[in-house]
Amino acid sequence: MRRYLEQFCESGREWAARPPAFVIGREGVWKGMVELCTLASGSSGNCLAVGAAGRWVLVDAGISARRICAGLSELGAGPEDLAGILITHEHTDHIAGLAVLCRRTAAPLYASPGAAAALAEKLPQLAGRIVPVAPGAPFEAGGLEVESFPTSHDSAQSVGYALTDGLRRAVIATDLGYITPAVGAAAAGADLLVAECNHEEDWVRTGPYPPFLKSRILGDRGHLSNAAGAELACLAAQRGARAVVLAHLSRENNTPQRAWDTVCAALTAAGAEVGRDVALEVAPADRPGSRWVV
Ligand SMILES: [Zn+2]
Ligand SMILES: [Zn+2]
Repeated sequence: MRRYLEQFCESGREWAARPPAFVIGREGVWKGMVELCTLASGSSGNCLAVGAAGRWVLVDAGISARRICAGLSELGAGPEDLAGILITHEHTDHIAGLAVLCRRTAAPLYASPGAAAALAEKLPQLAGRIVPVAPGAPFEAGGLEVESFPTSHDSAQSVGYALTDGLRRAVIATDLGYITPAVGAAAAGADLLVAECNHEEDWVRTGPYPPFLKSRILGDRGHLSNAAGAELACLAAQRGARAVVLAHLSRENNTPQRAWDTVCAALTAAGAEVGRDVALEVAPADRPGSRWVV
């Protein structure tokens, strides 16, 4: 694991004072600006919704359109309300439901130029709807300003996303082999961070996967471990993030408890009180998670 974040994670650093994050329904308070809800997260499918002022965009569509619509309806929205669908990369666990979903919404699809080309090859019927956007070039979707940042992953041109209403910012960083400066910079600006915690490194090493798969997962273009995800969480929290959602957990090489414990221990060691300074939750694999507001 590269140690890029050491320069950021000084323990004893004063915790940035920002308003806390809320879960709608749990606290009964609506104070926030940007909402985020994971609809599914993990190797069997990824999709999350980000909203502001009642308008929604999706990040990825890796579960069935039926499940996406069911998740949206829990948020009081439907596919016709979507203002955009942002694609991180063209792997199946991020686009499995996209073709069917696109029959139920006219929302534009946004992807990096490389992912757009790969997507057009996989789903030629959508080619005309894909808007290629270079990483770092801001654009507007659903009243949110969106900016993508490059991630290191074994796909054509993967990205993460930062979405802001001008005051609060949600950052999504999954499917990455290691924390590049671009990922670190994005996480440092997050009020709410969705951070990949894919696996426990030792579990992968000693597990039953064939060697090529082990080196793919553990490589620089694979997935982020719990320990690396914890570093990213610490960086974001120390810079003021009030909620961290752990995402894209491996079913074979991780457990929600293990991921949560690892990140909680790192945040605690860095001087944070989890639950007070920063909220921490694991995104469920097969159902919607909490409806966060920051
Ligand atoms: Zn992937
Ligand atoms: Zn993935």
